[in-house]
Amino acid sequence: MAAVRRVRFLRNPLATEIGDTVEEFLQILGGPASVFLDGRDTRRTRALVTLLHGNEPSGLMALFRWIKSGRQPAVNCVCIIGSVEAALRPPLFSHRMLPGVRDLNRCFKPPFEGAEGLLAEEILQILRVHHPEAVIDLHNTSGSGPAFGVCTHLDREHDALVALFTERMIVTRLNLGALMEISEHSYPTVTVEVGGRLDERAHELAWEGLCRYFDSDRVLAGDEPVWALEILQDPVRLHLNPGVTLAYGEAPDSAADVTLRQDMEHFNFATVDPDEPLGWIRGDLRSRFWAQDAGGRCVLSSLLRCVGGRLYPAAKMTLFMITTNVAIARSDCLFYAVPQASVSS
Ligand SMILES: [Zn+2]
Repeated sequence: MAAVRRVRFLRNPLATEIGDTVEEFLQILGGPASVFLDGRDTRRTRALVTLLHGNEPSGLMALFRWIKSGRQPAVNCVCIIGSVEAALRPPLFSHRMLPGVRDLNRCFKPPFEGAEGLLAEEILQILRVHHPEAVIDLHNTSGSGPAFGVCTHLDREHDALVALFTERMIVTRLNLGALMEISEHSYPTVTVEVGGRLDERAHELAWEGLCRYFDSDRVLAGDEPVWALEILQDPVRLHLNPGVTLAYGEAPDSAADVTLRQDMEHFNFATVDPDEPLGWIRGDLRSRFWAQDAGGRCVLSSLLRCVGGRLYPAAKMTLFMITTNVAIARSDCLFYAVPQASVSS
């Protein structure tokens, strides 16, 4: 078992102390870290969490750039950097987590066991000590696609936080053990997916949003209306059953039980019609996939249908978080889907 790494604390690091590149900054951190920045107003604190997944660098790049700029935030900012060791495993920023360990952003619920569970618990303790007025957890999607926010319930505070970065929001009650699900009980918390982990545009958006978050006197709902967000309510996740083989391609892969279209990522946040082919399947739907709503009910038949070995959506729906990475599809999920009736703006 991996040794438990304690979080390393840094306070007001100087631009000259964090290396010349984000890769050097990562080496200097060496493990999970908490960077505290004193604000102009020291009575309030905001929290930024990032790199819970080691292959999602945009948030750390934005924080690196902020420290390099020598600027002081409007209020205190506590910045928690999670999966530094996974990110350090060569090639840098390529591992979501270290091989054989749990996904840190699925560990924020009791029991806090194993190295990742203990780190999750320590991150929650750091938040408790600082009692921030808001928490933003910055991520990248594994595939490329537009940015969006995620929260567990909808109100003007969450709208305002997401609107610092993007105009699209997912509202989910899925209980996955993600940070925001537990942190939400104490502080307004949103997850922001700034876009693909390799997209320059995503790095830039993380930077612009971080500047608004750090620099604004007020980030929670004020008197000014927030721009109208597009809301997607209650997505469901499509999972592969254990042992089912998966491939991506332009034709059915003879070695795979399920083949999904190579260009699936193009459907990210697009509306797909029931006659849009998604791929090919050997055997029946239930032997290959599972999907549950937040109440634990099976919703597979409202997601997919199979006609003569071809896969189609069961209804008009919006898909997102689509991956074409077999390992991520297998360990996490294939995509999230929201039936059209649940989309509003
Ligand atoms: Zn992530």
